[in-house]
Amino acid sequence: MANPKLKTVVKPSQNSNVITRRKPAAAVKTAYSVAEREEIFRRFSVQRPEPRGELEHTNPFTLVVAVALSAQATDAGVNKATRALFKVADTPQKMLDLGEEKLRDYIKTIGLYRNKAKNVIALSKMLVDEFAAQVPETREKLVRLPGVGRKTANVVLSMAFGQATMAVDTHIFRIANRIRLAPGKTPDEVEARLMKVVPKHYLYHAHHWLILHGRYTCKARRPECERCVIADICKSPEKSSDIPAPLVELPPQVIGEAVE
Ligand code: SF4
Repeated sequence: MANPKLKTVVKPSQNSNVITRRKPAAAVKTAYSVAEREEIFRRFSVQRPEPRGELEHTNPFTLVVAVALSAQATDAGVNKATRALFKVADTPQKMLDLGEEKLRDYIKTIGLYRNKAKNVIALSKMLVDEFAAQVPETREKLVRLPGVGRKTANVVLSMAFGQATMAVDTHIFRIANRIRLAPGKTPDEVEARLMKVVPKHYLYHAHHWLILHGRYTCKARRPECERCVIADICKSPEKSSDIPAPLVELPPQVIGEAVE
């Protein structure tokens, strides 16, 4: 199938009677009309009315640690290690009291654990020294923490503080480009485009829907189009079916038992 034509979405001016010299809003490319995007996310919302992230945590601090540990690791692998860790260290001070060496023992099954242990101790120290042991609620402050990048900050802002963000991981980056929903060369570009093309009322859950869709259906090596609820709308050149799967609510996710 040839690449579908990308549509240009331009945000209308808030007051069309007022003539201003401001530059027009930046155009955003997507292969889908407003109605198609609405329908895509409506179907995701029927499948998963309350999508959840699969990283186990008990408070904003343990969420920051879990997300920092999850780089290049599976959520299931991180959960296995953190279940015991968070029983003894669920605050920045307790993490510092535990110390880097013992922390390494808890997380040694996770890839890059030495570096990650260093970062977790350093970020715990910064939280204690500069943030009164509280996880900050702004992206600017979160990304100052060692080992916390924009993606981690977005996950924390969404899951811990209820803000609508788009944490672009490998699944979201792949889907946005594969189906031409919000194509971009970098995660930041995809994030900015998705924030514009996802219908506002679906934005809060959108990153979880896309991650789970990528993890369980639109998989990296071979998308399972015959199991996909948006197969009739999808404009991916890679798709292998035009018939959408039945639209039903999926069984509740089993946290920590996800298979990549
Ligand atoms: S139809 Fe296939 S390629 Fe398109 S979103 Fe579904 S699984 Fe992905």
